Amino acid sequence: MKVYISVDMEGCAGIVHVDQTRRTGHDYATARLWMTGEASAAVAGAYDAGATRVLVNDSHGDMRNLVLEEMDRRIEVLSGDLKPRSMVQGIEEKWDVALFVGYHAGAGSRAGILDHTYYGRVVSDVRVGGKRYNETALNALVCGTDGTPVGLVTGDETTCAQAREVLPDVETVAVKSAVTRYAARSLHPEEARKRIREGAARACKKAASLTPLRPKPPLRLEVDLLATAMADACELVPSTERVSGYGVRYEAPDAETLLKVLQAWTVLAASTIPA
Ligand SMILES: [Zn+2]
Repeated sequence: MKVYISVDMEGCAGIVHVDQTRRTGHDYATARLWMTGEASAAVAGAYDAGATRVLVNDSHGDMRNLVLEEMDRRIEVLSGDLKPRSMVQGIEEKWDVALFVGYHAGAGSRAGILDHTYYGRVVSDVRVGGKRYNETALNALVCGTDGTPVGLVTGDETTCAQAREVLPDVETVAVKSAVTRYAARSLHPEEARKRIREGAARACKKAASLTPLRPKPPLRLEVDLLATAMADACELVPSTERVSGYGVRYEAPDAETLLKVLQAWTVLAASTIPA
């Protein structure tokens, strides 16, 4: 069984603030070990359930967070930016199941630790086919197009609830419960790892019965930016429709194109932020 694991950081136990999730933050060195611990727990669960190959994609920030010497030597790791499929780079090979670890709630969520969607400094809301899509949903869409179902999502309780809305048969492991954007009641990191390992094993065991997320194309992508100048910049991407002061729209023929357009928009939008 081939298992694909995408690991973000904001949804790991104990993490509540950007001072932990940014490379320059005071608490980053500890937080990256918590992230590595949760990634390793998912890897262990996959092997418990009979995985023969595991690819781990470092999916947070500059995507160079995982401390490799702490991880199982059998895995392969995808590190670094830029990756055309971003948080699900490598999914285009055939995998039996994808596991999302350390994920967070989408932009605009209440009680979601560090809620954002792809790039919080420019994106206020993302919708696909008129429905709000967070990173779990967007990445599941790309996985689904390539025929891979998402079997596990871990993060705070809001993240897990949002995952179950879009992926009815997904396993979830909530490692913390957000009080506000910057406060949560969290499990101890070791308890979080134990539950993630068990959740990963459950997800892998039922991989064959899971349904990939695969809505019919074209996929209508709509994004609200945080400033009009950002939306102006997004219009540089050909076939982008400007629908309002803050809003842009794109009819994507497939999920891969949708994700590329979203990334191109965010890069262009970020270029308008004064230095
Ligand atoms: Zn992240």
